[in-house]
Amino acid sequence: MERHHDAVLRTVAEKDVRFIRLWFCDVVGTLKSIAISPEDLETAFDEGIGIDGSTIEGFTRAYESDMLLRPDPATFQTLPWRGEVEGTGRMMCDVLTPDGEPAASDPRRVLRSVSERAADKGLDLFAHPEIEFYLFKEGYEPGRTLTPVDTAGYFDHVHKGQGQDFRRTVIQYLEQMNIQVEFSHHENGPGQNEIDLRYADALTTADNILSFRTVVKEVALGMDQVATFMPKPMIEHPGSGMHTHLSMFQGGRNAFHEPGAEFGLSRTGRQFIAGLLRHAAEYCAVTNQFVNSYKRLWGAQEAPSFITWGHNNRSALVRVPFHKPTKGTSSRVEFRGTDSACNPYLAFAVLFAAGLKGVEEEYELPEGAEDTVWELTDRERRTMGIEPLPTDLYRALEVFESSELMAETLGEQVFEFFLRNKHDEWRRYREQVTSREFETSFFAG
Ligand code: GLN
Ligand code: MG
Ligand code: MG
Ligand code: MG
Repeated sequence: MERHHDAVLRTVAEKDVRFIRLWFCDVVGTLKSIAISPEDLETAFDEGIGIDGSTIEGFTRAYESDMLLRPDPATFQTLPWRGEVEGTGRMMCDVLTPDGEPAASDPRRVLRSVSERAADKGLDLFAHPEIEFYLFKEGYEPGRTLTPVDTAGYFDHVHKGQGQDFRRTVIQYLEQMNIQVEFSHHENGPGQNEIDLRYADALTTADNILSFRTVVKEVALGMDQVATFMPKPMIEHPGSGMHTHLSMFQGGRNAFHEPGAEFGLSRTGRQFIAGLLRHAAEYCAVTNQFVNSYKRLWGAQEAPSFITWGHNNRSALVRVPFHKPTKGTSSRVEFRGTDSACNPYLAFAVLFAAGLKGVEEEYELPEGAEDTVWELTDRERRTMGIEPLPTDLYRALEVFESSELMAETLGEQVFEFFLRNKHDEWRRYREQVTSREFETSFFAG
């Protein structure tokens, strides 16, 4: 730790860094930032920087509003878009109570606890996301139609396309911040892009996703565009998913891999998938936290709606990707439910908790589905034991609310806040009268 502190202080002095932003996020996953000056860095490391948490979503009950931010020196990076003269650095922070205990409401703590519980069993958790998002010419305003920046589609190479310049700048910035990118391409929808990050431990990946979303929004604004991670911004085009590849290592070995087994997948890997499937309805409110998330899940266009797994099945919730026999350590599980607007700390926490439960309790993996689940009739699906995901946020909350696994994984405070906040979102949604209702019932009777 000490070494990291000193390294940060040295870099700040050498690079003429003028501001240091302390980053954390609320329970919904919104990035929060406060800037301090280099003189206050040592205090920040030793004692933490005091903030009033009472107005931050999910953070405190009013009587315990004082909180401390303690920056994680290992995450120090300068922000490339702020320039080199009098630059700006940033660190991800843990949130503490005034007595220096981890704050129950800090999403980073929730994921850290799951990682630590796994580490007690010798397991290290890894994740990497494929993040989809849309670029529009202007931001959302009531009554204004959204115009995507191009009309291209899946993998299209757009000549002189803005998307390429955009992805190029984003990737340069990310790499300068030590966030490695694996692939990037145009996605299916007009103005829709995807950038895939390289795998890292689960906590680092969640940190990286917060940084990623900020970089994308920043670069878009610099090009007079607006980026959105909203799950389904245009009803006729695909939503923005955040497929996430999950794996676990034990003593440096991939715990999901077994040479010669079907798909190279070990017993642990099968049990992990079984856990993801069995608890899918319970954690869905976390991986898909908005009313709008369910318009993606139930809008076809390659988003999953049913709780199945498969190998070559793009409609499945969980997919075991193609496994090259020569790449023995790459066995992993692709979870396709998550959307790009989730809180990555909480989403990874519940996904790993569900998978680990499957391993602990040695769940049996049900039969995979190689058919397109969408093309089956309800009856066929029932016979095959294929359950649907919750069809809307309200149903997701009902299952979430009665889940012991969720209460235990998130901790009482996040669990309760989440329920309150999301029920409120649902109530406000229900209070609306939409144009579709006028179409169906204005002339009725
Ligand atoms: N956009 C799709 C989703 O919502 C995924 C499309 C793809 O990457 N094949 O999950
Ligand atoms: Mg992809
Ligand atoms: Mg994609
Ligand atoms: Mg994918």
